[in-house]
Amino acid sequence: MSEQNIRTVVVTGGSRGIGRAVCLAFAGADTQIRFNYSSALAAAEETEKQIAAAGGSGKGMQVNVASEEEVAGFFKKILDETGRIDVLVNNAGIARDGLLVRMKEKDWDEVMDINLKGVFNCTKIAAKTMIKQHCGRIVNISSVVGVNGNPGQANYAASKAGIIGFTKAVAAELASRNITVNAVAPGYIETDMTASLSDKAKEALTARIPLGRIGKSDDVAGAVVFLASQAAAYITGQVIHVNGGMYM
Ligand code: NAP
Repeated sequence: MSEQNIRTVVVTGGSRGIGRAVCLAFAGADTQIRFNYSSALAAAEETEKQIAAAGGSGKGMQVNVASEEEVAGFFKKILDETGRIDVLVNNAGIARDGLLVRMKEKDWDEVMDINLKGVFNCTKIAAKTMIKQHCGRIVNISSVVGVNGNPGQANYAASKAGIIGFTKAVAAELASRNITVNAVAPGYIETDMTASLSDKAKEALTARIPLGRIGKSDDVAGAVVFLASQAAAYITGQVIHVNGGMYM
């Protein structure tokens, strides 16, 4: 395969959960994967190992997506190494749950900085390269909570709803450059983020899901890979809901 046919896929928050599943779903001889993470070095190394075992090539880098400077360094390194950015998956995210009246400003700011400003930081810089290439795919990970709300998650819901507005605005801006921008809104997915739910809470949740189960990271990764594929070339500004029918 010539170097020109090798695409570069960038995934934020690729060390664990949905981000790792996305990296693995893209892993293959025709793809260079670059992902970042916040602090979990061992988990990031495990993602790299699993990408290699799947026949792919991938590297992780510790980068805070909320920092414009760190994000700039991350993308510079990617461009120096691969010369392209074909796909960007904005997946990194955190939750700092609590009822509104008790929510600390710090918890609001951290969630907004990582979940929403992080998407802005990465998309802005990747878009410049994609505009030069006259092609690119951007997939932003929102949440069912961003469309439906959820008590105890005012900060998280606002950040995820913000991602949807951002996705539509940027899709309209970049469409003429053959760049698509879409969002995937997962429902409840089994990852570290939802691990603290009690068995009772999980049972109650499952009862609200028509497909009768909590989702898996691979369920989300499949939708992301589809949106980055040639089959999705005419889809932009959309939100794909991956939630077992929990929200229709
Ligand atoms: P997770 O298992 O907690 O993993 C979060 C990932 O984001 C990790 O790789 C983490 O790195 C990275 N990260 C956190 N803060 C970061 C920062 N400041 N800079 C760079 N990377 C950072 O979460 P998940 O459940 O896979 O969720 C992935 C995405 O899906 C999030 O945006 C989440 O909001 C969304 N989502 C999840 C669910 C769900 O039910 N799980 C539902 C809807 C939407 P470290 O490993 O270093 O901490």
